[in-house]
Amino acid sequence: MTTPFARYPDGIIRIDTGYWRAGFAASYLLVEGEEAVFIETGPSRAVPVLLQALAFAGVAKEQVRAILVTHVHLDHAGGAGALQRHLPNAELLVHPKGIRHLLEPAKLQAGAEAVYGAEQFETILGGITPADGQRTRAVGDGEVYLLNGRRLQFIDAPGHANHHHCIWDAQSGGIFSGDAAGISYRLFDQGEELLLMPATTPVQFDLAASHQTLDRLAALGARWNFVTHFGRIPFNPLLTDRLHRLLDQFAALSGRYVGQPEGESALQEALQQLAWQELQHNGQPLVSEAVCRDWLTMDCALNAQGLRIWRERAG
Ligand SMILES: [Zn+2]
Repeated sequence: MTTPFARYPDGIIRIDTGYWRAGFAASYLLVEGEEAVFIETGPSRAVPVLLQALAFAGVAKEQVRAILVTHVHLDHAGGAGALQRHLPNAELLVHPKGIRHLLEPAKLQAGAEAVYGAEQFETILGGITPADGQRTRAVGDGEVYLLNGRRLQFIDAPGHANHHHCIWDAQSGGIFSGDAAGISYRLFDQGEELLLMPATTPVQFDLAASHQTLDRLAALGARWNFVTHFGRIPFNPLLTDRLHRLLDQFAALSGRYVGQPEGESALQEALQQLAWQELQHNGQPLVSEAVCRDWLTMDCALNAQGLRIWRERAG
């Protein structure tokens, strides 16, 4: 059995939250001396593995000072309120546009049930526990959280969602980018080459804001991109250029299909084909096309839906 934990330099532990399947969604534990924070929590169902991660790292629950979430989509923050109940000293820090959803999650839950379906919602996400209002606060663009003196800076990052910020950790040279700087699964790695795709999930995807956010993140001079889906990848101009190009390709494909009968499923298929082309472009794929399609089923469905909603909103 593979462990859900991996250690990176600078006191960073990657935790597989087990959301949907192994290797799909990560949370991170940052340890600096006697203090620690979680970045991302996964859904409520991930709370047990997050607590196991503390044991793995030799960190007591009392030493966790904060829970930082990039945005309030449930695969990133659905378990924040439930996790906080186990951590007596942990503040929950969230984007100003996301805070009310964590304090009063009924709307969030209804939205997620609409996207995922009620049955799948229960199976893969679990319920949502409201965050503790006394220990939850919104953090603005540029604000710095000091983890035992280590600077973690919040960078407003709209595009994937309005309630999205990224966390810049100068010490590791890494950006915890949530869904704002691509998704990239280790399953598809071919040596140094990796598959990178934008996340255009409903219901707030915005193309122009996504490009601007990437430019803003690129200006930080990061070396590493800690994506939620999944793990640490390099952050460099080649990869940000690739994401800019793919965002434009996604947008162009959505323009071709949205509004047609069965347009959303045709767009979903086009996104699958694009992913397979990208993988072939990187070299001989190490997985079959069937495995690639199966793995990307949920992303392509959500991306197609998000692109359709963006097109319809833009008129
Ligand atoms: Zn998201």
